[in-house]
Amino acid sequence: MKTIDEIQEKLKSGDAIVLTADELKTKIRAGEEVTLDDVDVVTCGTSGVMSGTTAVLHIPVSEPGEFNKASEVYLNGIAAYPGPCPNELLGTVDVILYGTNHSKTIEDYGGGFLLKDLVEGKEVDVQVIDNEGNEFNTKITKDDLGTARIIGTRMAFKNYNSFTNPDKKAQKSIFNVAPMEGPYNSYSFSGCGEINPLENDPEQNVIKQGTKILLNGAQGVVIDNGTRSTSEKPNLMLTADIKDMNSYYLGGYKTGMGPEIFNSVAIPIPVLNEKILENLKVLNKDIALPVCDIHGRHLPIDTIDYTVWEDVDYRPTTDPDKCFNCIPCLPELYCPVNAYKKDKTIDSDLCYGCGFCAYVCPRGVPSINLGKITIEAEGKERNISVTCRQSDKVRALKIAEDLKNALLDGSFEL
Ligand code: SF4
Ligand code: SF4
Repeated sequence: MKTIDEIQEKLKSGDAIVLTADELKTKIRAGEEVTLDDVDVVTCGTSGVMSGTTAVLHIPVSEPGEFNKASEVYLNGIAAYPGPCPNELLGTVDVILYGTNHSKTIEDYGGGFLLKDLVEGKEVDVQVIDNEGNEFNTKITKDDLGTARIIGTRMAFKNYNSFTNPDKKAQKSIFNVAPMEGPYNSYSFSGCGEINPLENDPEQNVIKQGTKILLNGAQGVVIDNGTRSTSEKPNLMLTADIKDMNSYYLGGYKTGMGPEIFNSVAIPIPVLNEKILENLKVLNKDIALPVCDIHGRHLPIDTIDYTVWEDVDYRPTTDPDKCFNCIPCLPELYCPVNAYKKDKTIDSDLCYGCGFCAYVCPRGVPSINLGKITIEAEGKERNISVTCRQSDKVRALKIAEDLKNALLDGSFEL
């Protein structure tokens, strides 16, 4: 048995052993025996589309007294909800912005793209309509905001369903970049498997109300379990200050149903006892991944596991010489994070590794090995290529590494 205080003391004196979840799994896979003496903290990470993301913003709009009460507020054309505090006659407005709301003025732009722009320090257009119908317009950056905080109502899920389409007709959904083709020739999944925080602490021995975390690179906290959490399928309600975030870790993600939002989360797991250590030894092959009909969502056709992340590429490569210059360029049109550039190269800071560009380009200009799955459906074995990923292992690994470094350099305390 160890205590968090003891481990924190070891961190301070430079004697603590901190491993990322990926480093620990590499040891386990290699058959190394890992005991309580070999590790004090394991840092876990995940990055994925997290629809339950909101932001609470306090926005200066005009001089005090110019309007009584805001009725409607739009940020870059995205509706944000004024209140709950009315801020009467103060010239400022409190709003709640949904990461999933879409802009009425900018095509394929939503709350996730807006929050990334804010974190990057870009200027945002604010339009306020007051309770008498008067309109006020201003521009703000994150430095103008009093409060700027993300509150994720359900984040870092432990369990995900994954999806294929048994029908001939393509089906629109938030679970794929574009309408999902069928029958059984598309497959989309989310989740980072063995490095995901709640997979490594499934009984929530350490991840609970008050646990410190990194949310999009900012130090934050677990408020509680998220909405619709159950002991079998938990998720987390998290918060952190937008002004401390790193824009690499969050952003918009376009889907068949319009723009969504992705976030990245890292959580430290202090290895206090044997039970916690045993749970940390979970590998991709041990984690169930139900494959569901995109129409039914909750009815698994079959169940596979998170080895979908093994022997695959995390990022595409491109060969612009193969390009046929078709119009439109489908990777450019469908790239969910606008990383695919006109010159047929990829912006590596934006790319989310979803792989959809390689699926839609007819000439193989972008290419990536996303792997295949095998399921049993309608009495037949089906081999289906993975065509879309909605979680990013690169960001998940990096944020877990950032947390390890912050624990070791003392800038993050347990
Ligand atoms: S779809 Fe492929 S071949 Fe066509 S323009 Fe785009 S990159 Fe070039
Ligand atoms: S893999 Fe391709 S489509 Fe996906 S984010 Fe990267 S560039 Fe865009």
